[in-house]
Amino acid sequence: MHKHDQLYIDGRWVSPASPRRIAVINPYTEQPVGHVPDADSADADSAVEAARRAFPVWSATSVDERVALLKRCHEIFAAKRDAFTATLVSEVGMPAKLTRRIQVGLPMQQFDIFADLLPTALAERQIGHSRVLREPIGVVACITPWNYPLHQIVAKVVPAIAAGCTVVLKPSEVAPLNAFLLAEVFDEAGLPPGVFNLVTGYGASVGQRLVSHPDVDMVSFTGSTAAGRAIGQAASATIKRVALELGGKSAAVVLDDADLPTAVRATVSSCFLNSGQTCTALTRLVVPHSRYEEVARLAVEAAERFTLGDPNDDATRLGPLVSRAQQERVHALIRRGITSGADLLLGGAEAPLPARGYFCLPTVFGRVAPGSVLDQEEIFGPVLSILTYPDGDDAAALAIANGTIYGLAGAVWSQDAGRAARVAGKMRAGQIDINGAAFNIRAPFGGFRQSGNGREMGIYGIEEFTELKAIQMPAS
Ligand code: NAD
Repeated sequence: MHKHDQLYIDGRWVSPASPRRIAVINPYTEQPVGHVPDADSADADSAVEAARRAFPVWSATSVDERVALLKRCHEIFAAKRDAFTATLVSEVGMPAKLTRRIQVGLPMQQFDIFADLLPTALAERQIGHSRVLREPIGVVACITPWNYPLHQIVAKVVPAIAAGCTVVLKPSEVAPLNAFLLAEVFDEAGLPPGVFNLVTGYGASVGQRLVSHPDVDMVSFTGSTAAGRAIGQAASATIKRVALELGGKSAAVVLDDADLPTAVRATVSSCFLNSGQTCTALTRLVVPHSRYEEVARLAVEAAERFTLGDPNDDATRLGPLVSRAQQERVHALIRRGITSGADLLLGGAEAPLPARGYFCLPTVFGRVAPGSVLDQEEIFGPVLSILTYPDGDDAAALAIANGTIYGLAGAVWSQDAGRAARVAGKMRAGQIDINGAAFNIRAPFGGFRQSGNGREMGIYGIEEFTELKAIQMPAS
């Protein structure tokens, strides 16, 4: 059991204002695996005060000092990687093999990558008679979700600290345990008091206080579009910078000359990764009309291979959803999908499920109508929608791909590199993969339209936490 009764504020573990706790539930066993403080506004205020006090000294440290600290953090993190993996499997439910590689492996690399990029990201430029400097923006509130909880925390907290900012982190109340291990990493690395602060609790209490606190300069948020909208509004009262990483309904566009079996298998894998609880999941497979039957058969075959089971069993490819609430939400959307008139090809919300665990069956819908619920709504479960467009009409395929409020990710499949690049160029989304190209941890990550307005990762992820200052020099 992970019993956390204290918050990390000003370099110390301190008791929260109230003894209330939030239980953390293992989505496979449905049993508690630990608890964290249900902090309130007073705790948020203490954390912001600590971050504010630490800012002048931390922001004045040299880039070299901060690079050295990131490298130390990387080593300490690496020594704890098994503990991170076990903790994340128990609170998120993603299969352990994938958790180790993605949920732990990616954040671990980030410390080194940000250390490498920091000198370039913060380099001074000369523009005419102006020196142009990048300075840390100040106190940053980082608010994160549960689906890749550590990755999302690290993608904010590490570049913010690297840039010279001080941070208050409010992790998801659903999967907060990994954040306590991360606080230990910073503590052991000797990060000065107040540079990193951890306050757990709900969005409506701690979260709301942080995003409206007058001493917070920036809010970096990853989560749902609905919460992002509320946060943007609250933060606007004090003109904070707000970086939002929100939802998606990303499309894989398969052109008529594509390698169909590879395209379908890769899209199913993307859609079902982490049981569909991935913001960049390719949840819409957009294919030429004449190939529909073949695609439907291939998609069902690929989806059937996603064996449900214990996340700690290496044979499991599909773990449970994160919570009972998420399971109910996904099942409700599947039922709406059925009433929308789409063909249910596999899975659904009614077939028998394992006796325990918040599972959802791998589900495939065919003949999904553009504009219908299965085309428009982020489901955040293992649910694939297949849509068709008239053969050869790339513009029609693009209209479907771009036809939602979102614009986070996308994919294009074609044997013709030029044609694939042209289609990718017209997709209104932040990251597009051609023919299954791999995720790039150094490339900018973020959304168009209602998928958000921020960019994380790589050099852009550091710049996000800076202000530009121009100092005009007199002619000599
Ligand atoms: P959520 O929006 O419910 O919660 C995210 C975080 O915000 C939590 O810490 C929550 O406590 C807090 N919060 C909620 N309302 C708040 C408010 N009014 N003020 C301050 N804080 C508030 O999202 P979730 O269910 O945890 O995560 C799933 C969502 O996250 C999906 O929509 C998914 O697409 C999105 N997501 C986006 C990205 C991305 O990078 N674009 C990455 C992962 C997940």
